[in-house]
Amino acid sequence: MTLTDINQISGEEGRFTVNLTKKARFIDMDKCTGCGDCAEVCPIGMVDEFNQGLNDRKATFKPYAQAFPGAYTISKLDTAPCTVTCPANVNACGYVSLISQGRFKEAMEVIMDVLPLPGTLSSL
Ligand code: SF4
Repeated sequence: MTLTDINQISGEEGRFTVNLTKKARFIDMDKCTGCGDCAEVCPIGMVDEFNQGLNDRKATFKPYAQAFPGAYTISKLDTAPCTVTCPANVNACGYVSLISQGRFKEAMEVIMDVLPLPGTLSSL
């Protein structure tokens, strides 16, 4: 079982009970070929835990080159507080990250996806 933590093991030889937490991958393993295109365009940078934080990785990633299965996964801890408090649930983290990379058209698409009239929420 991949992306799974063991919480507790109880019982005795031949009759164990194991409590697991299976994390969501957010990518369909049956369809993912492991090409890595999603990581190339992913705007969210994160610390690479596999390399003890010595380098960065993208939120869409494969933990290490030889990982099996070869499907990618997405680090998604929770919904960002700014998205939760936004009346339209705009993915602020997403569009701000895209803007930081100069990907303005894609940033606008993130906003327009849920908020076709962005000026309606402006306080200016
Ligand atoms: S690695 Fe990413 S882009 Fe490639 S098939 Fe898997 S999910 Fe799709």
